[in-house]
Amino acid sequence: METIAREDLVPQGCCVDLHVHHELPVFGPFLARSLHRLPPAHAETEGCGVLGYALYTWSFPTRRAGAAEILSMVRRLRARAARPLITDGASLRSHLAGGRGTAGFLCLEGLRFLDDPSSLEALVRAGVVAVQPVHFWDNAYAHSYRFGLVPVSEVGLTGLGRELLCEIERLGLLLDLAHMNRATMDEVLARFRGPVLCSHTGLTSLRETTRNLPDAIASEIFRRGGLVGVTPWRRLLPRFRGTGLAAWNDAFVRTVEALVALGGEHGVALGSDRGAPLLVPPSFLAPPNVAQLQRVLESSTGIIGLGEALFGGNAVRFLLQQVPVRSQCQEYYHGGPRCRKLPTITTSRDRC
Ligand SMILES: [Zn+2]
Ligand SMILES: [Zn+2]
Repeated sequence: METIAREDLVPQGCCVDLHVHHELPVFGPFLARSLHRLPPAHAETEGCGVLGYALYTWSFPTRRAGAAEILSMVRRLRARAARPLITDGASLRSHLAGGRGTAGFLCLEGLRFLDDPSSLEALVRAGVVAVQPVHFWDNAYAHSYRFGLVPVSEVGLTGLGRELLCEIERLGLLLDLAHMNRATMDEVLARFRGPVLCSHTGLTSLRETTRNLPDAIASEIFRRGGLVGVTPWRRLLPRFRGTGLAAWNDAFVRTVEALVALGGEHGVALGSDRGAPLLVPPSFLAPPNVAQLQRVLESSTGIIGLGEALFGGNAVRFLLQQVPVRSQCQEYYHGGPRCRKLPTITTSRDRC
């Protein structure tokens, strides 16, 4: 029987959700409230948690909107969020050392709005930690799964997309493969040397859809020490055997088991996509059900500690290793008035 070792820096019961939404400019707060039924994760009510705040960026009508719009979205979110934002390795360490409360890190879902790869640097300075280059449709940089509505392109990155990849690597951003078509995933993995994840997905081998992750891509992400966040969205999980919460749990567990079989015991994570208009049972992320999922998984795989790793430990370890230290000027990140000088972005990787 295998045991996953806990690291001292992971607080007991720490919950990480790689993909949650707080802003829905297209659907609006009314629609978001009426369609979205997942309550806050237990991370928000007790213990220590980390949420990946995914910012919708697909409502901007043209690329000319540029980085300015997303910067104002980031500022609005930071002004409203009562929780601390993780912007670098130092702020992550200090949040975990406190062992309480929920913090978030900023992710961009789709870079359609971005006028030029060089604009990414301003977003990193505003605190963005992870980027997902495509969302529902193809854009100037890469090709998408196209919402599952029209045949998917066999083309991957564009020329501008290759430049973007260099910039993501130079800035030390986490690269999220969610929503990419297969050709883009293949090309990204062939070219990109930085940290990769797929924040919210299921597996194509269990549910045939272009939105899901092929087994070979999941294995490669795990081989590189990356993360795969499993979504509880029914359309990406295997077909249900039964009804209700039990069927939801069964489909979610089967996806996690398959990912573990692909080498993911240290790379599976949770990416709920809550806040997006998805229907998931209200009790799915409630503490009793999380505990039940953890028990089932540990007994079916025989891996002690897998439950805790899935809901927090794996993602914490990845973030600690991969979120760069950009602590030269904390005042800037936290909005303090004293620091005029922008911080230097440090990364161990050279420009490609
Ligand atoms: Zn998404
Ligand atoms: Zn999303």
